[in-house]
Amino acid sequence: MQIRDATFLMSNSRVELCPPPTLPEYAFIGRSNVGKSSLINMLTERRGLAKTSSLPGKTQLINHFIINKEWYLVDLPGYGYAKVSKENRVKWARMINFYLRQRENLACVFVLIDSRHSAQAVDLEFMEMLGSEGIPFVMVFTKADKQSGSRTHQNVVEYMQKMSESWDEVPRHFITSAEEKTGREEVLGFITDINQQ
Ligand code: GDP
Repeated sequence: MQIRDATFLMSNSRVELCPPPTLPEYAFIGRSNVGKSSLINMLTERRGLAKTSSLPGKTQLINHFIINKEWYLVDLPGYGYAKVSKENRVKWARMINFYLRQRENLACVFVLIDSRHSAQAVDLEFMEMLGSEGIPFVMVFTKADKQSGSRTHQNVVEYMQKMSESWDEVPRHFITSAEEKTGREEVLGFITDINQQ
């Protein structure tokens, strides 16, 4: 997919204020520092489209972008900030759960996982929630340039094993590096395929 146009539309905290649900939508989410902004910028080839790491505790919003006037890309606030207050954690969960359940044009959630680490409970729990709500999602293992391919593979396999304890089918996954610009065609090709269905 060639990105001809990538434009920021709006930020808000309420699903009913999001753009009209007339185009397929793809949301990106993961733990803080997982490399979400870098991935979005790499996919769209726009260096500053997604702002890198906002400070934990800062108001966090649902950010909509429109790509090629054909689909929405959504940058969702991350989870797993160690220093976030309980109150903000509850606010985040309410906003995200509401968005994920209510957003009717949501085609797929990309759950970003840092490929350097072995399976983390917070990521598994989030995907468990998506699965039990029937929300379509795939996994994106980020920062693959940071270690050997076999180490990445080992971490991917561990996630798949843990996921298969709960689900008959494990989600599709992609391996990316924003640094080396790998995985881009695969992710964009996946989006193209869904858009054409
Ligand atoms: P976010 O908080 O999830 O949006 O994460 P950022 O995109 O701001 O990235 C967090 C840190 O990881 C930054 O220092 C990035 O430069 C670095 N980073 C992100 N993606 C990659 C990658 O693919 N490879 C490497 N080596 N570093 C990355």
